[in-house]
Amino acid sequence: MTAVPKPEDTAALIDRWWEQQEEELPCPHLDASLLGHPCGRRLWLSFRWAVLERPSGRIRRLADRDRRETAFMVENLRRAGIEIHSTCPDDGGRRRVELAPHVAGSPDGIIESGVPEAPKSRHVAEFSAHSLEAFTELKRKGVFDAQRRRWCQIQCWMHGTGIRRALCVALCRDNGELYTERVEYHPVAAKDIIGRGAEIALKERIPPALSTDPSRTQCRQCPARPFCPGTRPIEPGCVSCRTCAHVTPGKDGWQCENIPLHAMTPEEQREGCPRHVLHPDLVPWPLMGSDEDGNGIYEIDGVRVVNGKGGVLSRDLLKGRREPRQEADLPF
Ligand code: SF4
Ligand code: SF4
Repeated sequence: MTAVPKPEDTAALIDRWWEQQEEELPCPHLDASLLGHPCGRRLWLSFRWAVLERPSGRIRRLADRDRRETAFMVENLRRAGIEIHSTCPDDGGRRRVELAPHVAGSPDGIIESGVPEAPKSRHVAEFSAHSLEAFTELKRKGVFDAQRRRWCQIQCWMHGTGIRRALCVALCRDNGELYTERVEYHPVAAKDIIGRGAEIALKERIPPALSTDPSRTQCRQCPARPFCPGTRPIEPGCVSCRTCAHVTPGKDGWQCENIPLHAMTPEEQREGCPRHVLHPDLVPWPLMGSDEDGNGIYEIDGVRVVNGKGGVLSRDLLKGRREPRQEADLPF
């Protein structure tokens, strides 16, 4: 007789299903949702795909809940007579707005009319859902003081769309209460936020850390925390053009010095190539130079190791290999 699975087995099964769903390509641009983060290093590592943010099954399930809650709020705005579009794939999709080279954002929706305080004005829409504690703080302090990073994102959206008002709609998950707030456009702040993002995106070298104290709030919540002190290399799964010493994020796109004048697509960048050389800011080993074929030379535990197609491939090096593969064993 087959044993009846325990309740916890069913929960694990659900999260396993989420874990098995295909992962999306990492965000190709520096997204407006990150720009309000105070740590430039955090932004740079994310833009360089140097830290894998592999959400667990539970987190992916919660992201799905967020999408459903947003759809619920959109539906209720429409019931209240507000004309809104560009909210989700069924609705034309969120509109991507270019803010600067490599910097972009996607408002949660575009409201054409119907907001009671200004019925004829267009607004960008922003949706969020909160625990009772966070919701109460949001109501008490407003978006600017309670959720500065969200406020920065909204400023970017207004700047990029040319729409000068935003409507934030927040849902309390504990009691179903709704809170709405209109936010005004602040052109100076918007330009500063976007300018900082563009500057970080174009940096060749890693920006300084916000703090050396891992207990600081931003660091505790940061996916780069294990890597940040500079004592360990990136993970093998992070090998892509963006973590390669040969690449430059120019104003016109990503350029590899090995394939000049070819603007690489995000898919090509994720794939990389055997000539990948680890960016010196993403490993704890000193870079001693490079050879005439463009391979990097690192000193690892007192030994010079050639990294690249003519030496140890980057993924192999990150997995602990120190000797080049035999020709028959090469993956290309
Ligand atoms: S751990 Fe802290 S200092 Fe390091 S990247 Fe993250 S936020 Fe910045
Ligand atoms: S050498 Fe290869 S991995 Fe490096 S940037 Fe060029 S194409 Fe990408």
